[in-house]
Amino acid sequence: MTTSKTTRQDCVAQDQADPLRGLKDQFALPPGVIYLDGNSLGVLPKATATRVQAVITQEWGTDLIKSWNTAHWMELPARVGDKIARLVGAAPGEVIAADSTSLNLYKVLSAGIRIAQADAPGRTTIVSERSNFPTDLYIAESLCQQHGMTLRLIDSVDELPAALDADLAVLMLTQVNYRTGYQHDMTAVTAAAHAAGALVIWDLAHSAGAVPVDLTGANADFAIGCGYKYLNGGPGAPAFVWAHPRHVNRFWQPLSGWLGHSAPFQFTPDYQPAAGITRYICGTPAILALAALECGVDTVLAAEPLGGMAALRQKSVALTECFIELAEERCAELGVRLASPREAAQRGSQVCLSLAAPLHEAGYAVIQALIARGVIGDFRAGDPARLDEVPHILRFGFTPLYIGFADVWDAVEHLRQVLASSEWKEARFNQKASVT
Ligand SMILES: *Cc1c(COP(=O)(O)O)cnc(C)c1O
Repeated sequence: MTTSKTTRQDCVAQDQADPLRGLKDQFALPPGVIYLDGNSLGVLPKATATRVQAVITQEWGTDLIKSWNTAHWMELPARVGDKIARLVGAAPGEVIAADSTSLNLYKVLSAGIRIAQADAPGRTTIVSERSNFPTDLYIAESLCQQHGMTLRLIDSVDELPAALDADLAVLMLTQVNYRTGYQHDMTAVTAAAHAAGALVIWDLAHSAGAVPVDLTGANADFAIGCGYKYLNGGPGAPAFVWAHPRHVNRFWQPLSGWLGHSAPFQFTPDYQPAAGITRYICGTPAILALAALECGVDTVLAAEPLGGMAALRQKSVALTECFIELAEERCAELGVRLASPREAAQRGSQVCLSLAAPLHEAGYAVIQALIARGVIGDFRAGDPARLDEVPHILRFGFTPLYIGFADVWDAVEHLRQVLASSEWKEARFNQKASVT
């Protein structure tokens, strides 16, 4: 066994000195679990069950339909949107919480295409990354079919400058890549796309609540993001959508439902969009889910008096650096390789590892063995035909709200033991479930 420079005691001392350590008390983490999957489904906040219970028994059960007014249900998408705005560098009134990330992407990409067609006719490509989350690519594929455009996929960020050509209408990127954790420089990429005459849509699914985001400062055009990852909103939580004020009142978004109307309760037969981001609401908001999402967002806002996203980011970088250092020191000779950028500035709040040959195929079972030990990460399949270039990935998310340095140390030690003992070879860890 290699001796580590960082000891578990060092990690415990770091936790004791951590000014953010108290934020963990906001969560109902099950005992014995090291949860490194907040990038996929955030942990349940303690406040959520109480709040949702009150919405059910009092607001719905007792006050019934009056609650649309008395409990301010109608304002909930905007109120939660305003809270998310504080985390992504947007102004009050610019963000709305609604629908899913996929649906919100459909809305903003439609708007982006229409704006491009009006302002820069003749541009016919949408550019994204082949490694983008599939739903983003599927939505873009569908809109390209509708609008007679072409989806061009780049295979690496090095190809980005060449893709910013005179044909580009909309650049559609996820700021932090779901597989590798690679983080784009939002300001620089936005400026380059604008210089090329294109619009930029940012998917913040792995950014909101994970890394500091400044949509206004970056002069982005549109953004969407996810409620159930780092915002801890619960499974299938509503997502959010932002449009720059210079764009928001241009065109309707295509899902022109009645609650995006300027006067829904006049029940007119024709559609008049509401001013501002409200028009990005389609139908009746999911109140129970929004109540849960608000509790989740509040857990991130609770860091504001302690330095907010900047402080969370500082801790997140320290956690991921510590994980990389320990994983390389203690597990490299067992085949573990870093699959995320080594440079912290290019990394979100997750670290991905891959396994070198002959363990190419072992990733799924290793994650299953870790989960059985209470260390919860996840597995993202690579390209079976090109595992050297697109390997299977062991993905570990570090949510600084509830993960500490001793957790990092323990997680690496479990990984070392799972590999060193070949525990992962047990049959029970090699049966694939539908969700990985
Ligand atoms: C998680 C994620 C989504 C999820 O979309 P849903 O509509 O909630 O299923 C979309 N895009 C990216 C980049 C994601 O990481």
